[in-house]
Amino acid sequence: MISQTRDIVQKSLDALLEDEHFLPELQGEAREQAFTSLTAILSTPNHVHKSFLRVPLENGRVDRIPAFRVQHNNALGPYKGGIRFHESVNEDEVVNLASLMTLKNSLHDVPFGGGKGGIIINPRDYTDKELNLIAKKYVQYFSDVIGPDKDIPAPDMGSGEREMDWMMSEYKSIHPGYPYRGSFTGKSVINGGSLGRREATGKGVFFTFRYMIHDFIKNQKNLLTKTDNVFAKTALQYEGKPLTISVQGFGNVGSVAALEAYQSTHLQNKVVAVSDRNVTLYNSDGLDIPALIEFTMRNKGDLPTTPEQLREIDAKAEISGREDVLYLDVDVLILAALEDQIHKDNMEKVKAGILVEGANAPVTTEADKFLSDKGVIIVPDILANAGGVIVSYFEWLQGRETQFYSEDEVFRLLYEKMQATLDTVLPQFFGDPFPLRQNCYIHSVTKLSTILYRQGKLY
Ligand code: GLU
Repeated sequence: MISQTRDIVQKSLDALLEDEHFLPELQGEAREQAFTSLTAILSTPNHVHKSFLRVPLENGRVDRIPAFRVQHNNALGPYKGGIRFHESVNEDEVVNLASLMTLKNSLHDVPFGGGKGGIIINPRDYTDKELNLIAKKYVQYFSDVIGPDKDIPAPDMGSGEREMDWMMSEYKSIHPGYPYRGSFTGKSVINGGSLGRREATGKGVFFTFRYMIHDFIKNQKNLLTKTDNVFAKTALQYEGKPLTISVQGFGNVGSVAALEAYQSTHLQNKVVAVSDRNVTLYNSDGLDIPALIEFTMRNKGDLPTTPEQLREIDAKAEISGREDVLYLDVDVLILAALEDQIHKDNMEKVKAGILVEGANAPVTTEADKFLSDKGVIIVPDILANAGGVIVSYFEWLQGRETQFYSEDEVFRLLYEKMQATLDTVLPQFFGDPFPLRQNCYIHSVTKLSTILYRQGKLY
């Protein structure tokens, strides 16, 4: 369960009261009143919509499947966030993930609020026809509260462009004549999706890491060597050296981030390990990522699980348990699987000096504090994995204009946006005593506070 979001929002709010950027136009009691209102707004969602989808299955059984749509905050624009299809998703988790979306969009200047959905199923337990019905029912049950200017869902764990195409089509049938293209993002390109949306999160994860460690630090080297900041010291240790990287998760985010790392040959980094729900694969000389991706495409998304299968691709690689990827002696660990992967019971075993959060909330509050106190740099989810929602925004824009960008243009715009955020956040981070997560949260919340104040919501 993700208690982290609430804790850190609270910590960031506490730090904000001392911060000169927090509503400088207000003093004394008015400032405290604004602060109390802001705390109330950010610590609770605007709406929690909940239903049980009634789904007749092909075997004659009828399931009642719990489903949610949480709308956290829309000060910046329509609510926005994915719909998770997963058996362990629950209301509390969706509320936390929705609040992360509010912070993520604010951080990157995406004109959307924060939302998230969940359907409690294991998609592997249903046929395609049943999944199609589940997706359509979700839209039918929540059709009044979603829409291109209200709340725009997207893929998340367990869902992808197939589900978004189904859902958009159902929305279109329910609301004929409405500009339906913007009702869902993450659709297939042929159905109005954006080129590059599928790769956007993984590419953005690698870009964030690369820009921070290889570009920003190099350019700021003179300044950074002069500070006592513990994170600047960590970053300087890694700058300019070939790095070893391991990647947890080989789905849409992990496999693309691994491929980007593999293809950035000029940096001379090596992806030495990858993992999925079954195994960890390790090769100290670096794994052949394109061959592994090709294998997963032939094997329902799974990496090789037997030495015989692996030998075909890589004679030197070794197979071990899926958790092993977390404890290898590497420089960088990219977490692109599930939440709560590094926690109080395993945090002491983590050896990487840089952790990059491709998934949402993969490090718990205790582990975050423990590792940050040791000087480990944790590049937080809202900074690193925003590529998906940023390109969702481009998709929504393209759908409105019915004018589509080339793939190169999409990535150029994506990196431009992510770099602008990094250039704002990183100088503060290396100057402040706070870990990067808290720094990003303060930045987001400061922006939200000004917007909410000007909208007259903080009295
Ligand atoms: N589910 C993704 C996220 O957590 C993407 C959301 C979107 O594109 O709206 O950021």
